[in-house]
Amino acid sequence: MAATNTTGTRALINPRPGIFALALAAVLFLSVPASRADEGMYPLSEIGKLNLAAHGLKLTAADIFDPGKGGLVDAIVRVGGCTGSFVSPEGLIITNHHCAFGIVQQASTPDRDYITDGFFAPDGRAELPAPGLTIRITDSYTDVSAEVLADLPDTMDYTARSEAISRRMKEIVARAEADHPGKRADVSEMFPGKSYLLFIYTYLRDVRAVYVPPRSVGEFGGETDNWVWPRHTGDFAFVRAYVGPDGSPADYSPDNVPYKPKRFLKVDPAGVEDGDNVFILGYPGRTYRHQSSSFLAYEEDVRMPYVADLYRWEISVMEALGDEDPAGAIKMSGRIKSLSNVMKNYTSKLQGMARLGLTAERAAEDSTLTAFIAADPALAARYGDMLDELERVYVSMRQDADLSLTLEYMNRSVVMLSVARQLLEASDEMLKPDIERRSPYMERNLRSTKTSLLRSLREYVEPADQRFLREFFLDASDLDVNHRIGAIDSRLGETNVEGAIDEFISAAYGSTRLTDSAFVANCFGMAPDSLSAIDDPFLKLAADLRPAYEAERSRSVERRGALTKLNGEYAEARELLLKKDFIPDANGTLRMTFGSIKGYTPADALHAEPITTIRGVIEKTTGREPFNTPAKIVELYGKKDYGRLASRKLRTLPVCLLYNLDTTGGNSGSPLLNAAGDLVGVNFDRAYGATINDFAWDESYSRSIAVDIRYVLWMTAKVAGANRIIGELGVGPVD
Ligand code: ASP
Repeated sequence: MAATNTTGTRALINPRPGIFALALAAVLFLSVPASRADEGMYPLSEIGKLNLAAHGLKLTAADIFDPGKGGLVDAIVRVGGCTGSFVSPEGLIITNHHCAFGIVQQASTPDRDYITDGFFAPDGRAELPAPGLTIRITDSYTDVSAEVLADLPDTMDYTARSEAISRRMKEIVARAEADHPGKRADVSEMFPGKSYLLFIYTYLRDVRAVYVPPRSVGEFGGETDNWVWPRHTGDFAFVRAYVGPDGSPADYSPDNVPYKPKRFLKVDPAGVEDGDNVFILGYPGRTYRHQSSSFLAYEEDVRMPYVADLYRWEISVMEALGDEDPAGAIKMSGRIKSLSNVMKNYTSKLQGMARLGLTAERAAEDSTLTAFIAADPALAARYGDMLDELERVYVSMRQDADLSLTLEYMNRSVVMLSVARQLLEASDEMLKPDIERRSPYMERNLRSTKTSLLRSLREYVEPADQRFLREFFLDASDLDVNHRIGAIDSRLGETNVEGAIDEFISAAYGSTRLTDSAFVANCFGMAPDSLSAIDDPFLKLAADLRPAYEAERSRSVERRGALTKLNGEYAEARELLLKKDFIPDANGTLRMTFGSIKGYTPADALHAEPITTIRGVIEKTTGREPFNTPAKIVELYGKKDYGRLASRKLRTLPVCLLYNLDTTGGNSGSPLLNAAGDLVGVNFDRAYGATINDFAWDESYSRSIAVDIRYVLWMTAKVAGANRIIGELGVGPVD
């Protein structure tokens, strides 16, 4: 695979060393054992078992979460894919700027640019609706493992197993939603093949922006500083949740009223200092700490390099196009931001994995595990084949990787193709009984599927789409003979591949109607006969590509079945070997993590302090993006006008905080709480070397970053003059 192009070169998926070579490397690595401190994104079920006093907290477990009664956790919400927390009795939520970015992006035009200027609603009526954004509140959870895992004999094949588990999960959800009208249910896999929890959630559907700082504050330092410490970014925003006049969740309406949360956080304007104990409640997205070396090797060798390289190229294409087209630049800004975030995260992970030899270390542990299992007949009977089977799954994934990744990322990147594919899928799936449909097309998800489909059209920029399609067709033209994609081959022609692609592009983009949202909205859910009667080049392409995508899907269902079973066994066996009970990997459910404000040593002879200050903002300021500080900040800095928000210890205004808590993506926007449970910061990132904590946590490098509440209050009150928010927070005057 790989195509070279004007804006850069993309990487090949290389053949990689097998697991035995990795094991050999591990022998070398093991002479330098890594230190392991305690990690933990504790689920609700574990909070009661924690000795919080021993961790310096002044709250009891019941203050945080008391089953049946609630607690501080009632103030914590999921905001889209991020976290947020209620900070007033009127439904005011604090989260990150990057989590509210989509709201201002959707409402911006070159003439009314809320991204650049920021947004503040001087009163409730002016608050800016955020169509499609939801607030999720966790109501309760129940263990449903026995039901999910009943009657799954070891002899069952992996596809049947995978299908049986997802069907049970759907049935449990359907029953729970029938029992709890107006709520949403979700079954979350805590340990694959082992433990499953049913969560009941309240979703609020009317969310509005209250204050979103200008990008020059909320994203100060841009991609240069992203995933970096020291940091000086004011990555916060305020939004508000609304409900119908009767208090129940409702779609946007001017008649709606602010939601009254069961609980909201108290804000402590005194903040925290170096060494203070802190904790976080939030919704971490995904970690992969209980996975074999085969998984790590696949990530390190195949998937992450492919994605990082592809995204780097896609970003450069979109940036170049945006330079010529200001309206297009606004449309693409959200996508550029999220691709950049992933690209840099993967780049830092790849560097960290190589530096620490993580895969080799896990391979050595896997060899020890193999010997440990072989030495005990009972273990050998249960786990004897497990590691070999896991390796077989990853060998087959490597063999198919060029094809799988091309199909997956072509669908993610080329909007016209993904719109067409979703229309075809919707029309077929909606004929089936609800429980048998693929999840996005079940009645409970139809609306959000349609909303995000239409949103992708609002952010659509044709020249970018054309460039991406061209690139993937070129990639497809390089696939080996066993992995050809017939639907693309038939459009490539025999001799002049590039010419044929360009011809297809100009004809297809010249005649498609799928750029028209009203047309697409009308086609969504249309009967298959009517849809296939529409003569559209992308619907035709999507239909022709169907066999390739369906074959890919069957392979992945089978692999998922295998991995659910094998990873469950792997975690069990590893717990026995390490004599340790694992905390489940992050999976988007509510978790707690604790530790302290603490600096670290990112590299030999370097020590990083854990609190940055306003001085650093000024030092970094160049007057040009992404270091263009608003004049008002410079003016107040000149006067040292920090009101009562200066740190007593540092005698200046703190900006960001660093701490050794266990966080990941999804923890963006999580409240950072002091020992008494008061809000002292908003988590938004991790340090560069910390991103590998998704695979392996270690206290020496795991460091997360928050914006300090004192900077939040200073920006809100003194820079933006958004005093109605300060009043609502109940922190008293900050001058
Ligand atoms: N900035 C991060 C994110 O992308 C937060 C993290 O991963 O630590 O979600």
